[in-house]
Amino acid sequence: MSEQAEIGVIGGSGFYSFLDDVSEITVETPYGPPSDSLFVGETGGRRVAFLPRHGRGHHLPPHRINYRANLWALRSVGVRQILAPCAVGGLQPKYGPGTLVVPDQLVDRTKSRAQTYFDGEELGGNRPSIIHVTFADPYCETGRRASVRAARDHGWEPVDGGTMCVIEGPRFSTRAESRWHAAQGWAVVGMTGHPEAVLARELELCYSSLALVTDLDAGAETGEGVSHEEVLRVFGENLDRLRGVLFDAVANLPTNGERKCPCGSSLGGQEPGIVLP
Ligand SMILES: [Zn+2]
Repeated sequence: MSEQAEIGVIGGSGFYSFLDDVSEITVETPYGPPSDSLFVGETGGRRVAFLPRHGRGHHLPPHRINYRANLWALRSVGVRQILAPCAVGGLQPKYGPGTLVVPDQLVDRTKSRAQTYFDGEELGGNRPSIIHVTFADPYCETGRRASVRAARDHGWEPVDGGTMCVIEGPRFSTRAESRWHAAQGWAVVGMTGHPEAVLARELELCYSSLALVTDLDAGAETGEGVSHEEVLRVFGENLDRLRGVLFDAVANLPTNGERKCPCGSSLGGQEPGIVLP
């Protein structure tokens, strides 16, 4: 039982550990190894599996992360609900460093990532069905509400909603790209929010994101542009309160058996062809 969890937390840049007293679990998946071991522990009576998205010590750039293995590994230890903190750039001047955004939409501008489990590839003798999941609302509303409430309880008024634009990276945007993203009214820009969100949907997992603004993106500021050092510095300054918000957000989530959102039936009863873990 100590290897089982109900909630997953995927930590982003600068966020490499979550709970203190953890079991480290190595999980193999049909898609290869996840970014790192899972670190399973407990907070407030809830079993949580933590996965550092970029690996301990940050050795994986966003476009090399094995997103399929990461989500598969979390599901295989029992996780059905995921909170996904990440570092992002603010696209609007009002969303400066230290702003917490709980997005309700995303725009995918990635280019080269495996973003489905259902691509017809043979897997252990099974051929996945062709399935088109509904993705109109990419985030779990229950998880969003749990996160917004937790932030408010910490006196950190979050931006409730907004669009996260996900770029391929690893470079940051040009000023022209950034101004274009901002002109669409999008709130923040990151590099990891997709395909994580859609792969969670394909595995019938609840998934919501907590996007911490670490800098103003190139189109919204007038200085030299974003640097990775600046991202890590601001993330580090906010890490303790973000961790506090996550503990409370975990506590606010329903048990897996009490989920009322549509996430748990996103395959609509279709036969996936592969056996979900
Ligand atoms: Zn859900």
